[in-house]
Amino acid sequence: MLRQKYPLKWHKENFSIKIFCSIPNIATGILIKAGESLLVVDPGDGILRDLNKEISPKKILTISDLYITHGHHDHIGGVWALLTYMRVMNKHTPLAIHFPEGCVEIESIYHAFKKVYSKTIPYEIKLNVITGSKSFKSNGVTIKPFPVIHKEYLHDGVTTKQVPALGFKFTYEGLKICYGGDTAYCSDIVKNAKGSDLAIIEAGHDEETPDDMHMTVNEAKSIGMSAKEYFLVHVPE
Ligand SMILES: [Zn+2]
Ligand SMILES: [Zn+2]
Repeated sequence: MLRQKYPLKWHKENFSIKIFCSIPNIATGILIKAGESLLVVDPGDGILRDLNKEISPKKILTISDLYITHGHHDHIGGVWALLTYMRVMNKHTPLAIHFPEGCVEIESIYHAFKKVYSKTIPYEIKLNVITGSKSFKSNGVTIKPFPVIHKEYLHDGVTTKQVPALGFKFTYEGLKICYGGDTAYCSDIVKNAKGSDLAIIEAGHDEETPDDMHMTVNEAKSIGMSAKEYFLVHVPE
């Protein structure tokens, strides 16, 4: 089995990405720098520790956007910690949270946070519920969300249901980073990864039989190779 050595880093001109980790069922954590803008993608457990090591506490407070591909715990486990840290440390600039429509985990965390701290939150939280795949701009970066196929098991351990899940293509000064989140092989990830400067593709399936939750290493590689450079992530450890 292919093993990643985290962190994975990529950087071109004023655009860079650091993947602190991406381990299925454990944690993900990604920081993108686009000029002066700092964006965090899929803040799983440990994101605050990793950000603290990477950038100063002051800089953590300038993070402007959180991008959530889906609500599984390995992608959002650090959201509460981040929101609370920003409150305690007195963030004043707004924070936008971008997430797929129907992602009840983020909605619930947001409402619980607002309820617990009510009028003592010093910064504005802007929720951006993504309903389609229309591109939008935030803090100098153009984001193209796209739907992906990702499922989870119900109690019986056999039946599966689709979860609201997105991939994101980030464009800054003409450079493109495509991150598929968790996804089975699907046409949207194929289309969006193609020609990107960097594609980050999950290979979360540990057998060679494709399913509708994650991709095999071969599927992920075939998509990655259509980009200029690629990382395979979310490989089971
Ligand atoms: Zn995952
Ligand atoms: Zn997942």
